[in-house]
Amino acid sequence: MSSDAKNENVVWHSGRVSYEDRCAVLKQKGLVVWFTGLSGSGKSTIAVELEKMLNEAGKAVYRLDGDNIRCGINSDLGFTDDDRNENIRRISEIAALFQDAGMITLVSFISPFRKMRQFAREKAGEGNFLEVYVNTDLETCMGRDPKGLYKKNISHFTGKDSAYEEPLDPEIILDTVKSTAVECAKQVYDEICRRKL
Ligand code: ADP
Repeated sequence: MSSDAKNENVVWHSGRVSYEDRCAVLKQKGLVVWFTGLSGSGKSTIAVELEKMLNEAGKAVYRLDGDNIRCGINSDLGFTDDDRNENIRRISEIAALFQDAGMITLVSFISPFRKMRQFAREKAGEGNFLEVYVNTDLETCMGRDPKGLYKKNISHFTGKDSAYEEPLDPEIILDTVKSTAVECAKQVYDEICRRKL
């Protein structure tokens, strides 16, 4: 890891325990699994199922959920494009730290802009990042409306009056209309196993 700090007096302080040392203790490698998709597409539901599967398989896993993070470290941010970018910038940094700690890190954020998802990928490092596109159409999401947000006619709402830029080359695409949440989670789980973490 390197420092992007603006202050020239900030110097990266290396420790005596390496990433490989941490992985040896955990018997796994770190990974960021990044779920993106519209509100109500199923990101959180699938991440919860995947977290359970990985935990039961003896993996060190942690879930970073958009709404939960907005209750804490990102509670000062709203939904303008600038605030959305800052939301994703911070969570990208946090996810990269978790990855560096050796955790399988599940991130479920709408993350509507390609540029910021690319930022998250670069922070984690190529090979340490799985982009999972939860490809549920707007009509289905509006029909589900699990948090009642579509009904509220909120301004700057992704998919309605705020853009969602579809992933161009995600590692995994999930179809939540054809498959159940557990089946979708299993699809991601199998890909993680294939990578022999
Ligand atoms: P998001 O995190 O993307 O905003 P949520 O996971 O909070 O979405 O909500 C998705 C809703 O859709 C939940 O009410 C969930 O039960 C429902 N749902 C129906 N089928 C599926 C599926 N195959 N995968 C995920 N969620 C599903």
